[in-house]
Amino acid sequence: MAPRRFMINSGAIRDGFASCDGELYNHIARVLRLGNGDPVQLADEKGFVHSGTIDQVGREWLTVKIESSAPSEESESGAPRITICQALPKGDKTELILQKGTELGAHDFWLFGGRRSVARVRDDQRDSKLERWNRVTSEAARQSGRSSIPGVLWCPGAAEAAREAGHDLRLLLWEGEREQSLKGLLSTCDRPASLIVAIGPEGGFDPAEVELFTRQGFLPVSLGSRILRAETASIAILAIMQYIWGEM
Ligand code: SAH
Repeated sequence: MAPRRFMINSGAIRDGFASCDGELYNHIARVLRLGNGDPVQLADEKGFVHSGTIDQVGREWLTVKIESSAPSEESESGAPRITICQALPKGDKTELILQKGTELGAHDFWLFGGRRSVARVRDDQRDSKLERWNRVTSEAARQSGRSSIPGVLWCPGAAEAAREAGHDLRLLLWEGEREQSLKGLLSTCDRPASLIVAIGPEGGFDPAEVELFTRQGFLPVSLGSRILRAETASIAILAIMQYIWGEM
C-alpha cells in the first residue's frame, strides 16, 4: 500500500526534517496510530510532495525525516480543473457535495443562491458558513490524500456565477434538456484545461437562470431521463469526468 499523504505547510520543513503538530499530529499519531519508521508523504502548498519516514513521536509533535521531494502528480496529471457550480441545496447536502466532490478531485466549488434554492445564506452568515465549508474540503482533502485543498466560493446568484466563468468548457446540467446528452456532447470535445459544471437546487433551474448560463456559453446537457438529486448529479458528473479525462 502506498504511504499515506498529508498536507503540510512548507514552512514546517527545515534541514531535511518536517515537524508536525496540532491537528496533523493528532491525525497521524492518534487517529492512524502511525509511528517510528512508518513511511509518509507530505504535500505542501507549493505543489511538492515530500516522501519520508516518521523519525520521532513526542506527546504533541512528531518529526518526519524527508528522503525525497518531487512535484505532485496532481499538479502534473493533466486532468482538467473542474469547478462545481452548485445552487445552494437544502440542509447538510452542501457538506455532502463538498466532501464527496473533494474525494473525487474537484478543483473548487462555487456555491450560489439559486432562484429555487430553499436554503438561504444571509450576509451576516456568509463568513462563518464559508469557514465551515472550507474546513469540510480541507478535512476531506486530508482524508483522501489529496495534495491540494479545493477552495469554496460564494456567489449571490446565477448571474454572478455565470459571469465569472471563464472556463474552457462550461456545462449546465439541465433536467429540462431533451436532445443533448452528456455522452453525445463529450464525444465531440477535446480535453479542456478547465471545466465548470452548473447544477441546480432541489427545485431545479428557473428558466431565467438557464438563459443566463447559456448566454455565457454554458452548454445544457442531460444526464438521462431519470431525475437525480442535486448531490447525486454533482457526484456523478465528477466521477464521469475523472474517468474520461482524469486518472481514474
Ligand atoms: N425538481 C427538478 C429536479 C431538480 S434535480 C425536477 O423535478 O425537474 C437538481 C439538479 O440536478 C438539476 O437542476 C440538474 O442540475 C441536475 N439534474 C438532475 N437530474 C438531471 C438529469 N437527468 N439531467 C441533467 N441534470 C440533472
